[in-house]
Amino acid sequence: HEMPERVAGYDLAQELMRIAPSKKQKVFFFGSAPGVAEKAKAKAEELYPRIEIVGTRDGYFKAEDEQAIIEEIKAAQPDLLLAALGVPKQEKWLSKYGKKLQPVLRMGIGGSFDVLAGKAQRAPKWMQDARLEWFYRLVKQPSRFGRMLALPKFVLAVREEKCRKK
Ligand code: UDP
Repeated sequence: HEMPERVAGYDLAQELMRIAPSKKQKVFFFGSAPGVAEKAKAKAEELYPRIEIVGTRDGYFKAEDEQAIIEEIKAAQPDLLLAALGVPKQEKWLSKYGKKLQPVLRMGIGGSFDVLAGKAQRAPKWMQDARLEWFYRLVKQPSRFGRMLALPKFVLAVREEKCRKK
């Protein structure tokens, strides 16, 4: 499926939250530093008045806490689980525990709760439009450099696959 435009994870997560009430979907906020998910929840409730956020849990835990976290999420019965543990921890976690959490729709959202809670800012609109958001984040947080090297590798892999399919 060809995407006609860039879809930032933050924007997609906002859209899922916006339409959740009309679909009667309950949402769970998992991840980010202690206190951040609660602040993000308050902001989401301000933005999307009928949203039902059935639980929050910070993303700093030990391996032995994982079972309790799964039970907590299952007990809250969310339809949409937004996980902000950073890449690739969130993807690995969601993939590892996905079956146990079904039928939840799961999405890794990186630093989105930080933005929603007002702890971090997105790049200015012109930078987003110019596809330079990655650069803004790199300048703000130079420690991201190492993992950003994965991005050109990803682009090359996609191009190779496209050529193979032709
Ligand atoms: N985080 C977390 N647990 C961890 C590591 C990170 O909850 O063990 C959170 C962190 O507080 C931040 C988010 O994960 O809110 C990752 O943000 P980042 O901007 O690094 O996201 P990404 O680059 O993956 O989009």
